[in-house]
Amino acid sequence: MDLLKDRKANADYTIIIGCGRLGANLANTLSDDGGSVLIIDKNKDAFRKLSPSFGGLSVIGDAMDLDVLQEAQISKASIVVAVTNDDNANILVAQLAREMFKIQRVIARLYDPERECVYREFGIDTICPAVLSAKEIDKILSETGMLKDISEEGKQ
Ligand code: AMP
Repeated sequence: MDLLKDRKANADYTIIIGCGRLGANLANTLSDDGGSVLIIDKNKDAFRKLSPSFGGLSVIGDAMDLDVLQEAQISKASIVVAVTNDDNANILVAQLAREMFKIQRVIARLYDPERECVYREFGIDTICPAVLSAKEIDKILSETGMLKDISEEGKQ
């Protein structure tokens, strides 16, 4: 716990919720960059995705449980990133982080694009993989001129 005390003094203490493909990748990157990171997952096997060089902390538990968030010392965090595969869990944790624990930066992944804009109003940044992917595909097609070709084919 001494390690955790040292880390809480760090201004950029980041908590990541969900050690899946995205969460583990982000945790590894932030840790490699020297950041202070703690990652939570309800499934202990999920932490196998962390790299051997990961220098952060991990907590096993359901992030919708206040005791788990308190064990992670959420009130000391400046950034919370909720990237479980459950939109409801991400929304709940993001709202708790903002409203109850007054965290400065809260980012939630939402699979459902229709819910995205609502949470911006609460000061929660959202990322939606479907929307990001659509934009990226559109960009690639535009850059390669494919969109123009397709629309011209339609005219013939
Ligand atoms: P992925 O779909 O690969 O991004 O993985 C999502 C991760 O979120 C999995 O490792 C799940 O165990 C984790 N997860 C899902 N719901 C919760 C929750 N309520 N609390 C903590 N971790 C969760």
